[in-house]
Amino acid sequence: MGATLRFATRTTPEESGRVKLLLVDDDESNLLALQAILEPLGQELMLAQNGTEALRMCLEHDFAAILLDVRMPEMDGFETAEMIRARKRSLQTPILFVTAYRSDEQLFRGYNLGAVDFLFKPIVPEILQSKVNVFVDLRRTEQLLRRKAEELASAEQRFRAVLEAAPDAMVITNQDGIIQLANSRADTLFGHSREALIGRDIHSLLPAWECPNENQPHPPPAAEMRLGAHRDDGSPFPAEITRNSFLTPDGLLITTAIRDATDQAHAEAKIQKTNLELEKRVAERTAALRYSNEALRQFAWAASHDLQEPIRTVVTYSQWLSQLMNGSLGSRESKMLATIEQHAARLNQLLGGLRQYIQVSDSGQQARTTVDCNAVVKAAAWNLQAMIQENGASLECDPLPVIASLELPLVQLFQNLISNAIKYRSEQPPVIKISAKTEESGWTFSIKDNGIGIDPKYFDYIFGVFRRLHGSQKSGTGIGLAICRAAVERLGGRIWVESTPGTGSTFHVSLPI
Ligand code: ADP
Repeated sequence: MGATLRFATRTTPEESGRVKLLLVDDDESNLLALQAILEPLGQELMLAQNGTEALRMCLEHDFAAILLDVRMPEMDGFETAEMIRARKRSLQTPILFVTAYRSDEQLFRGYNLGAVDFLFKPIVPEILQSKVNVFVDLRRTEQLLRRKAEELASAEQRFRAVLEAAPDAMVITNQDGIIQLANSRADTLFGHSREALIGRDIHSLLPAWECPNENQPHPPPAAEMRLGAHRDDGSPFPAEITRNSFLTPDGLLITTAIRDATDQAHAEAKIQKTNLELEKRVAERTAALRYSNEALRQFAWAASHDLQEPIRTVVTYSQWLSQLMNGSLGSRESKMLATIEQHAARLNQLLGGLRQYIQVSDSGQQARTTVDCNAVVKAAAWNLQAMIQENGASLECDPLPVIASLELPLVQLFQNLISNAIKYRSEQPPVIKISAKTEESGWTFSIKDNGIGIDPKYFDYIFGVFRRLHGSQKSGTGIGLAICRAAVERLGGRIWVESTPGTGSTFHVSLPI
């Protein structure tokens, strides 16, 4: 019968889920009969007509079972079975002997050669099928198990590769901290061989290591934490660790990623030291500034106060002189005396402004009270009554809030802003609109006029002490807006201006709640 592959297949039997069965008989009609009985099982049947042929096939194929005729010329079934068993590949292949004789001697010899069963002629198809089916199932289960084992092995290989590729030392432990797996970085970091790490308690490396909450098998990725660690030689080092747990059929496993934080700890210590030095220097500088500020404030206060007296004397004496010389002074001398008086009065005014500025700058320390801003604007307008009437000015004021603040600085603030709005008026009668709006951070007040306006390049400049833009046309000290800014800043707020020259200006004041 020669070549015996009777079923042409495209896929390999393993892929198609079929297994191979070898039928060996020197009698072709027997072979055909066996084939006809086993065909309905749907497996791949291979036929051999003598022992030699059967042996050759066993070298090339793995069979789920071999049906071996006992009586064959040249090499009988038993001899063939002996040779099959002698080969590694077919050592475990189940052999069923087919025989017409039911003798104990044959049975004994057959079982001794590793036969798993005997089939006696005449063959009962159902019995043959069900016996062979057992081996088919066995082979299938075996194949399945092998495949699973291969899958597992490759998954483990992938897992180990990932572990090795990790930038940190990785240690996998059970709940008690006993190390199950470690990557090569862990060896390097701790100075142990990997074999020495496996089975060891992680606490000998990281004494403060704790198992993450076991009631939470899939906790969110844990935050990094700093722990003290020990190398094999006992030397300590700071370690940055992150833990993650995962549930396996063998229980909870914990992956701990460990990084040597020595450099980081050094850098942190250095930063801390620099910060401390900086803080110390800032404190020293602040103290020095506070000292010189206080000295300057005292000097400005003393100067503005002590200069009052000599100025008053200059004014009084120049007035006496003009009275004494009544009628005898020429117009030139009279003018000179009047100029002395005027400038002395102006000096007095400037010193007054300076004192007010210093007072306002110091007012922030006082406790806040409840201030009705409507009343504040009324008080400011009352103080400016004459100016308002003289200029035919109109004041429109929206309802304003009641806030926690200081009344006096607020009155000074509104008074300065309203008086400026009138002073720096245009040809039109002054119209001043006051409004307030609430924002998340506090209140913003707006004082809008229809005056001559301010060039944007001076928006910041005008808030400085003695800064004036229209000094020659309008009287003033140039301190009003500086006082406003000092008052607002002392209350924790901010003042700024928006303006279009020729149209008018709006001063905004924001005060925190
Ligand atoms: P003073 O009014 O005494 O000169 P301020 O400090 O109050 O001093 O104002 C500084 C300068 O800002 C003023 O000299 C003026 O040129 C300009 N200024 C202030 N308020 C207004 C305004 N509402 N419209 C136009 N210019 C103004």
